Amino acid sequence: MTAQIRPDLESIPAYTPGRSNPGAVKLASNETTVGPLPAAAKAIAEAAELANRYPDNQVTELRTALAEFLGVGYENVAVGCGSVALCQELVQITCSSPSDEVLFAWRSFEAYPIVTKVGNATAVQVPLTPGQVHDLDALAAAVTERTKLVFVCNPNNPTGTAVGKAELVRFLDAVPSHVLVVLDEAYYEYVRLADHPDGVEIGRTRPNVVVLRTFSKAYGLAGLRVGYAVGAPAVITALLKVHIPFSVNRLAQAAAIASLESRHELLDRTDLLVTERERVRDALVAMGYPVPPSEANFVWLPLGARSAEFGEASAAAGVLVRPYGTDGVRVTIGDPHENDLFLSFAGEPEVLARFLA
Ligand SMILES: *Cc1c(COP(=O)(O)O)cnc(C)c1O
Repeated sequence: MTAQIRPDLESIPAYTPGRSNPGAVKLASNETTVGPLPAAAKAIAEAAELANRYPDNQVTELRTALAEFLGVGYENVAVGCGSVALCQELVQITCSSPSDEVLFAWRSFEAYPIVTKVGNATAVQVPLTPGQVHDLDALAAAVTERTKLVFVCNPNNPTGTAVGKAELVRFLDAVPSHVLVVLDEAYYEYVRLADHPDGVEIGRTRPNVVVLRTFSKAYGLAGLRVGYAVGAPAVITALLKVHIPFSVNRLAQAAAIASLESRHELLDRTDLLVTERERVRDALVAMGYPVPPSEANFVWLPLGARSAEFGEASAAAGVLVRPYGTDGVRVTIGDPHENDLFLSFAGEPEVLARFLA
């Protein structure tokens, strides 16, 4: 007989990673196409020589570097095994029973419903607006006395849409200060919005706000798993309590420090990506796809019930993209030749006829 497993785990949707397929162009996981900088590769190689030793569980050096970079205190920074781990840890520090609610927009990051369930809490989802943007008024109205945590993914994964500073601040004013609001800024470095909210700045005067950022996207270290949280010391201290010991490994810490030091080179690359993002979106819109403006490193095709079929057809054409149920398809911005391959598929007359009819 197999051991008894928590029955409520049955309802957890399994995390579906982006597909990969040898030889195919992979535009399914919001990864950076360029490998680590030489300085980061060197730091990784040096750290590997000490692989017999446990890493620094307090992540002291990286937290110190991040605090300095962000202009906050050391006690305001926690590091996690990817910011996905921090999402789960934030549920763990706020929720303790199924009557506790975690609120977020939908569709949004697919990890939110999973970490909520794993944390034995209840997810409450608020639909995006018809324009695929966070409906912050509806989100604020959905806060109840049971709400413990609100995730605001800005820009939103998978739709790419972002909310501006004024509307975000108005939302934060409407949320009671005992509710923790998590501003998930995984794509912060790609935002070019004029009225651009910086969660770290906003959080300085709001102890119920915590910001998540990651080394996985613009910093190109998705394979090493490092993300960080910036917030009030009480939140950070609680996060350290639930942190899985040593889960941010030595290679990850070393690579993140080196990448942070060389950030100008990495951040310069986001300009090229943004140029490609605008080119790809403009081309898709010209073809007739109703692609909302994106502030991230991907674009969203709201294809409804045809999403899975579109994903299959694109894979057959050699480009792996990411369909999401019956909502739409997310396409990561890659190198220009990869984007061209996708655009030539999306623009084929048969494809247009089949998916835009
Ligand atoms: C990619 C992503 C993350 C973080 O990923 P990690 O690799 O775990 O740091 C967090 N939130 C959103 C919305 C993302 O898209």
